[in-house]
Amino acid sequence: EKTEMPVAREEKILVLVRLRPLNEKEIAANEAADWECINDTTVLYRNTLREGSNFPSTYSFDRVYGGECPTRQVYEDGTKEIALSVVKGINCSVFAYGQTSSGKTYTMTAITQFAVADIFDYIFQHEERAFSVKFSAIEIYNEAIRDLLSSDGTSLRLRDDPEKGTVVEKATEETLRDWNHLKELLSVCEVTCCPESKLSRYYNLCSTAYKDSLILSLALDCIVDFQTVESSAREFVDKENSTTLVATVSFIDLAGSERASQAMSAGARLKEGCHINRSLLTLGTVIRKLSKGRQGHINFRDSKLTRILQPCLGGNSRTAIICTLSPARSHVELTRNTLLFARCAK
Ligand code: ADP
Ligand code: MG
Repeated sequence: EKTEMPVAREEKILVLVRLRPLNEKEIAANEAADWECINDTTVLYRNTLREGSNFPSTYSFDRVYGGECPTRQVYEDGTKEIALSVVKGINCSVFAYGQTSSGKTYTMTAITQFAVADIFDYIFQHEERAFSVKFSAIEIYNEAIRDLLSSDGTSLRLRDDPEKGTVVEKATEETLRDWNHLKELLSVCEVTCCPESKLSRYYNLCSTAYKDSLILSLALDCIVDFQTVESSAREFVDKENSTTLVATVSFIDLAGSERASQAMSAGARLKEGCHINRSLLTLGTVIRKLSKGRQGHINFRDSKLTRILQPCLGGNSRTAIICTLSPARSHVELTRNTLLFARCAK
């Protein structure tokens, strides 16, 4: 078994908070909106009358986005720069973390498409470099990994590759021609569940009821002039062939945070059969340690998600986490848990 490398991060994880508006169902149910963005960096809890409310009323982050803010702006502000670092050979990832119905899928679907479009713009503007882009789509549920580009529902295994680190064995990789190609893969099934489509489960992925973690990844391969590669990216240059740059960008729509927050907040021991999501819980631990810049041991190996994402989280990599919030009064506990997670990740 491979020994874990000590992890040193130069940069902090970028933590963004997005508060969605009340949805139609909540409005119909006369829900109160208890949360509000009062400026670019602060979220306010305004139900001061709440009984036994001993938690703070304001929460500050690098950037917060309220209900009026379009996804395009959330993307441009912070995540764009991080997602595009993949073309320089830097592994990177964009996560959405939040309870079910808080807006993870709404946010990630658009951000993934904006980022892929920009990555292809870059590729077409740099024709002197020969890029290849491979797309994969997997989900993790109860520590089983499923390939969403394949129709056979068998679960995939992880393997330790001496060169590449942990790889998902036999995961389908689709070579993307351009950004429209991905759009085709994604949009066909948004309208109707189309069994012959490559991404036949996408319809289900878009529904609010969907609670698994979804990982969409683009692996970029590129022939470059070694001199033009940023020094920080050099460790990704293949030793044998000093002109091949390899990096991956992952877009992760996490399982609903209610699957982890219960255990995190109570500090309770994990009980068997309580349906806590191990991958989500381990991700929380890993991110807390990374954000503290801890050089010591980080337990990437404790869950499938963190094993797969280790290259995009540890070492020389860039990460943005978008924490999504519901303003509804009935969601206050989970909203607060998400804010506590966001604060730990900072
Ligand atoms: P999740 O993936 O976290 O379970 P969804 O992305 O499915 O949540 O969002 C739940 C509902 O709220 C959907 O109907 C979605 O369209 C709506 N929604 C989420 N975020 C926003 C937003 N920022 N603005 C407007 N509507 C939103
Ligand atoms: Mg969702």
